[in-house]
Amino acid sequence: MTEHVITPLVERRLEETQRLLINGHWQTASDGCTQSINNPSSGEIITTAAAATIEDASKAVAAARTSFDNHSWTGLTPAHRARVLWRVADLIEANAAEIAELEMLDAGKFYLGALNGEVPFAAECFRYYAGWCTKIEGTTKQLSIVPDQAFHIYTQREPIGVAALIIPWNGPLVQAAWKIAPALAAGCSVVVKPASQTPLSVTRLGELMIEAGVPDGVINIIPGSGSSIGRWLAEHPDVDKVSFTGSTEVGKQIIDSAKGNLKKITLELGGKSPVIVFDDADLELAIEGAAQAIFSSAGQVCVAGSRLYVQDTVYDQVVEGVADIARTLKVGPATNSAMDMGPLISLQHMQGVYRMVEAGLEEGARVVTGGNLLTDLGGYFMEPTVLADTSHDMSVVREEIFGPVLVTMPFGSNDDITTMANDSEFGLAASIWTRDVNKAHRMASAIRAGLVWINCHGIPDMAIPFGGYKQSGWGRENGYESLLQYTELKSVVARL
Ligand code: NAD
Repeated sequence: MTEHVITPLVERRLEETQRLLINGHWQTASDGCTQSINNPSSGEIITTAAAATIEDASKAVAAARTSFDNHSWTGLTPAHRARVLWRVADLIEANAAEIAELEMLDAGKFYLGALNGEVPFAAECFRYYAGWCTKIEGTTKQLSIVPDQAFHIYTQREPIGVAALIIPWNGPLVQAAWKIAPALAAGCSVVVKPASQTPLSVTRLGELMIEAGVPDGVINIIPGSGSSIGRWLAEHPDVDKVSFTGSTEVGKQIIDSAKGNLKKITLELGGKSPVIVFDDADLELAIEGAAQAIFSSAGQVCVAGSRLYVQDTVYDQVVEGVADIARTLKVGPATNSAMDMGPLISLQHMQGVYRMVEAGLEEGARVVTGGNLLTDLGGYFMEPTVLADTSHDMSVVREEIFGPVLVTMPFGSNDDITTMANDSEFGLAASIWTRDVNKAHRMASAIRAGLVWINCHGIPDMAIPFGGYKQSGWGRENGYESLLQYTELKSVVARL
């Protein structure tokens, strides 16, 4: 049977209105307001969720502030905090099937993909940062400009305080784990705002965190509107840090909102990542990799390989190869495991992606394959699309589409492919496909992007710092680097 049958456990959960987590209590919105949650595979409303008001957000920030100032979390030993985060990971795994189902229903992820991908990844993220709790250290220093006196000088890392964590819809569970785990490992208290479309898996994660022993007020979860609740969190004087993942446009608004108290900001923003295939590459591998780089999650991935550059001698072969894969992909509901590519998140987003393709065609692009919406499937689906005859002056090449749309361009041996690849306001990721080791590393060094893959695309890990150059963002997630962004550094100079 390929159609996933919703389990009674999840059915029961969906019958209830999803609630807000504030100061350890699950509650409805202060004005009783709810929002409908849609299944993008069918367009149907599957449940309702409390939509936080400013009053709720205010209580959540106050709870986080009080828990931080009272040392409810930092007062525990680092080893104790590590055990709590480790237990969160265990609980995620113990409830993996349920969480995968929730991720399938509101974020349009395939059940098995979520069960074997997103869910264990989120669990490992908590384990990775559990390990860091006991390893946050300072250094000792020596003075050079005050001779003949004795000093003891050291630095220490302290949690930054209350962090607002603002999450997009395209990977709700993993994006939340990438922020919550390092923030808590650093000792912060947090207010999490999931995207209004996708609160289900993050709400479940909140329940597991309370069960694991995270003290009241240290984690608060308030799904709600970005333009009111998200903005209000970014403006709030009692919030010390905002970690935001989302569009570049909203990232710039966050900068404006955050300036009142000069809160620290991490921004993980959009991308238009190049995939560069040389004629000496393993072409079979490169074709498969390029197709996966753009069609995985229907292109709704910040590091999607959405610009394909191929050396002219093999351009036709590679583009036809990627188009052949696109033609064979079965597009349909994420609830059906026989499908290869699932839905776009919403009607509005699907229409936006389609308009981008139309604009590209008006500007002179040619459809190699795809280009149509699949409206008869019920949900929000689009054909995997490959465009040719595209150039850098077209919006379809310059702007992030966040859908299954690939633009392709040839380059000659005399062309400066690095300049072409770098000709973008974004700088999130890139992949290089060649058998020439020297060429691969020279290019990796010349590409202006935070992540470069060689003969692969889209491989993430908690250990790999993740983030963008240029308008793809500020700061890094994952690795020790992420942990540091939830800390302040203090220097202490003691005259002996
Ligand atoms: P979005 O910017 O519309 O929304 C992201 C989050 O911000 C949501 O929770 C939303 O409610 C909130 N928000 C909206 N307006 C706000 C405001 N004025 N102030 C504060 N918060 C506000 O993005 P999206 O459509 O949810 O996600 C898709 C985008 O996210 C794409 O551009 C994608 O590239 C990017 N993304 C980046 C990364 C990365 O790591 N670089 C990862 C995933 C997604």
